Amino acid sequence: MPSDRDYYAILGLSRDADIETIKRTYRRLALQYHPDRNPGNKEAEERFKEISEAYEVLSDPEKRRQYDLFGQVGSVGAGHTDPFSQVVEEMFEQFFGGRTRTRRPQATPGEDIQLTLELTLEEIAQGTRRTLTYARQEACSACGGTGSASRRAPAPCATCGGSGQVAYRVGGGFFQQIVYQTCPDCGGTGVRIVDPCPVCSGTGLELTTYTQEVEIPPGVADGMILSLQGAGHRGPRNGPPGDLLLQVVEQPHPTFVREGENLIYETWVAYPDLVLGTTLEVPTLTGVPVSLRIEAGTPSGEVFRIAGKGLPRYGSRKRGDLLVQVHVWIPPKLSRADKELLSAMRKNPTFQPAQKRPERSFFQKLRDFFGKS
Ligand SMILES: [Zn+2]
Ligand SMILES: [Zn+2]
Repeated sequence: MPSDRDYYAILGLSRDADIETIKRTYRRLALQYHPDRNPGNKEAEERFKEISEAYEVLSDPEKRRQYDLFGQVGSVGAGHTDPFSQVVEEMFEQFFGGRTRTRRPQATPGEDIQLTLELTLEEIAQGTRRTLTYARQEACSACGGTGSASRRAPAPCATCGGSGQVAYRVGGGFFQQIVYQTCPDCGGTGVRIVDPCPVCSGTGLELTTYTQEVEIPPGVADGMILSLQGAGHRGPRNGPPGDLLLQVVEQPHPTFVREGENLIYETWVAYPDLVLGTTLEVPTLTGVPVSLRIEAGTPSGEVFRIAGKGLPRYGSRKRGDLLVQVHVWIPPKLSRADKELLSAMRKNPTFQPAQKRPERSFFQKLRDFFGKS
């Protein structure tokens, strides 16, 4: 809707008003005539439309130039860049609170860096420290991260007025929906680099080899992601850094199987040891073995619980248990004498099974243990 109205008169401004004055005046008037504050007032609505249109033109250097030259602008209306809405939104946030969406020019934050962290069960049990070395984008040393060869402060992007977002009106009538999109001209950064730094091509970033000490707390689990704030890539033109995300990869252990905070240790003992009883040395993650008494007549597959010798629970002082499952050892090879000994045993009724199946299976026993923990 090209207009022949005097935009300067609508806003009550002189022809040489600067952009700050235009913005300030518009804010004041828009707030005064905003339909939210004047429900059902047709006159206020008309007035608000007028001042919005005037601002839309006068706040845009290109449109204002056209308007000053030709007295009208070809493309005012729905379906195109609409910076004024942004100001209204901002203003309403300021005055009435509530919405947290920021549309101020903002430094683009850096990207997160993801690394995997291979840990042994011993390291998980104790917690550990690591010195990580990785490639990281940091502020370009040639331009101090500004992206400008002369380290000049960047100019605001003309397309989005420095907000990094452009607003589009969708739908007709007065109560249109406003849709925000990343500014196509500055990629959302809100700035334009006049003299790009030749080293970083204006990004303000430089790839470096970075070293970071990390403290890994005890009890982490495979797949867990630990995040270290600010240790990711630096944002373009001194934007805030992203995070370092460390994904825990637990290495398989030669002795123990992990089940949450519990550890399972399987061991094989001689048949006479289960029948007559014995004492086993059971290894632990700390390297100090513990003694485990096997009573006479212990069935094969029995599970013993050694309390507190499992893994620490993440973020807690509690510890899991060490579950020891004992199996009878079946020798793979026998001498003639061994065979004679066993044949004699086989004939002895004492060694004949009293029942076909044990009361509980191997897996049931383990399951029962987990059920209790
Ligand atoms: Zn822009
Ligand atoms: Zn640079």
